[in-house]
Amino acid sequence: MEYYRCESPDCEFVTMQEDLEVCPLCGGMTFVPVPPEEITPRGWLSLCREAARAGDQPLAYEFCCRGGDDPACLCEQGRRLYNGKGTARDLEKAADCFERAAAQGSPDGRCLLGLCFEKGEGRPQSWENAIFLYKQAADENFAPAQCNLGWCYEFGKGVAVDGKAAAYWYGMAALKKDPRGQYALGLCYLNGIGVEKDVKRTVQLCRLAAEADYRPAYYTMGELYEQGTGVKKDLQQAAQCYRWAAMSGLPMAQFAVGRCYEKGIGVEKDQAEADRWYSAAGEAGHLGAQVTMGLRCELGLCTKQENIDRDVMTVLWYRRAALQWFRQAARQNLSEARYRMGLYAEKGWGGEPCNRVVAKVMYRMAAEQGNAEARKALERLERRWF
Ligand SMILES: [Zn+2]
Repeated sequence: MEYYRCESPDCEFVTMQEDLEVCPLCGGMTFVPVPPEEITPRGWLSLCREAARAGDQPLAYEFCCRGGDDPACLCEQGRRLYNGKGTARDLEKAADCFERAAAQGSPDGRCLLGLCFEKGEGRPQSWENAIFLYKQAADENFAPAQCNLGWCYEFGKGVAVDGKAAAYWYGMAALKKDPRGQYALGLCYLNGIGVEKDVKRTVQLCRLAAEADYRPAYYTMGELYEQGTGVKKDLQQAAQCYRWAAMSGLPMAQFAVGRCYEKGIGVEKDQAEADRWYSAAGEAGHLGAQVTMGLRCELGLCTKQENIDRDVMTVLWYRRAALQWFRQAARQNLSEARYRMGLYAEKGWGGEPCNRVVAKVMYRMAAEQGNAEARKALERLERRWF
């Protein structure tokens, strides 16, 4: 393989393309052949990106490995190991790469190693280590670490809940035009977390983040347009914003788009579209969408089964589908879903045999989560059987 280096002094860009006209790093226009042993880590990194753009992920992985102990190459290598991109997924090896980069003072490496500790991936879970690393990188003005640290303060992960500290760190990231920081700070202004409520600022910050194509910001803009908070109420805009966010696969936005189609908010009512978006959100684990799909199936509103004859089998199928959805939902501790699973077991719906023991267990779990209907059902069952 032949490599060509940009000839500008200090530019280390290297390409595999013989006929490249302009260097994307410096704008230089002269390239000279370079032997592999003279390629710098930054050159290997540019080759890695070029291979990735061309779709050759294994080659991209090989290139970033050839950058050796360079922190940026190590982080790229680690990310690829973490995501299984161009190489087998290996969380421990990924964390090793991040650790080697962090040991050289790389904020990126520290932040990524912090994430391994936060999630317990490749390293044993430790909030203490995660926060130590985030703080180091945040103090070096590294925006992703500032966002992570802000999140820890907002939700009290490994530290006491501290709204002011959360808003401070989000704000530091926002100052560097980091869209996640802008968005998170915008939500602080919306909910009065660590700052005075100020919806105008929420709108400003969400717009900035949305301009940088940070999709969750579109979702929030959709909510603001739907409610007329900080902006003029505009349901069509709301639906459009939700759709933008939903197209990136954000479950809560997919749920919102489903709701728009179901109820005709800013769009023509379209139950088939509603089902399409609700099921996408439900499959991605959105609780509200799962319960909604369950009810739609149970009540026969789901358009996905329209072409089946409405005979006994259809009813059975509806109920089965409903039970499926409720089962999925119940795994996530939703008391309503547990109550309904109990109901299905008690009545023998969904093609399941009647099972009062299962029903009681489900009702009890739902009742313990404060579900009043489940409590009544449990009392009813216990009166009848004991
Ligand atoms: Zn150049």
